Amino acid sequence: MKGLDEVVPAGEPWMGVVRAGQSLRIVDLEGNQAVDTLFYNAADTAEHYSAQNTIQAQGRIYLTTGTVLLSNRGNALLRIEEDTCGRHDTLGGACSAESNTVRYALEKRSMHSCRDSFLLALAKQGALTKRDLPSNINFFMNVPVTPTGELRFADGISAAGRHVQLRALIDTLVLISNCPQLNNPCNAYNPTPIRVMTWDNA
Ligand SMILES: [Zn+2]
Repeated sequence: MKGLDEVVPAGEPWMGVVRAGQSLRIVDLEGNQAVDTLFYNAADTAEHYSAQNTIQAQGRIYLTTGTVLLSNRGNALLRIEEDTCGRHDTLGGACSAESNTVRYALEKRSMHSCRDSFLLALAKQGALTKRDLPSNINFFMNVPVTPTGELRFADGISAAGRHVQLRALIDTLVLISNCPQLNNPCNAYNPTPIRVMTWDNA
């Protein structure tokens, strides 16, 4: 399979397969964009990214170069091979109509959310449903944990042109919601496009 190179506008989902041995690069084109992402075993989508197994295995909560993304069955899906941002969250989850209501205000309920984008992509894909949405990764998102154990949705630490690059260890189905969030300082209240690239390694 040849690689691809696509720009995903803010608020849009993206779905594709990265073959074993291929690299996947996600570029934060304008900086501080949150890229909500899930990974599935392309051959058996009941196997998917597990935040719990990944955090437990590496003994730390942030994802960066060297992190091996593990599945709910404990298998390695991908490895982060480059990271020019330095911190990616996997605790904060995806924004949704419900979380927008709880975190911000009741009238935010109708605003577009990552959960909507995930569900839209899954509906087009056909085989997966909302039951197949586990806790996701938020690439480029800064969610520090305070000394008292609270989660903070903090200002982003990414910048224009920073990227994260992963090597697929098995054929992997990638589901991205390029976050449309307008209420969260992590993206300076300004969702922006990302670039998604894949290629074969020699
Ligand atoms: Zn979101």
